[in-house]
Amino acid sequence: MVKNTDARNVDMNIGEKNMKFCPNCGSGNIGWVLPQDRSKWECKDCGYVGAFIIEDGEIADEIREDYIKNKGKMKR
Ligand SMILES: [Zn+2]
Repeated sequence: MVKNTDARNVDMNIGEKNMKFCPNCGSGNIGWVLPQDRSKWECKDCGYVGAFIIEDGEIADEIREDYIKNKGKMKR
């Protein structure tokens, strides 16, 4: 059993206190649109693109809850 541990991949998953969240859906699955342009963020979950992001996990949780609720409504 050989586990290929790539330090660069591990690095992506640490530092939870520095997490960034999407202001639209509360997802933490966001990143820079361009690595050179660190003022612009893109949400991989809902497609949000913008400079504004959430850095507070509690607020993100609330947004996420609302988003999922609304999504459920739309599905109906
Ligand atoms: Zn989003």
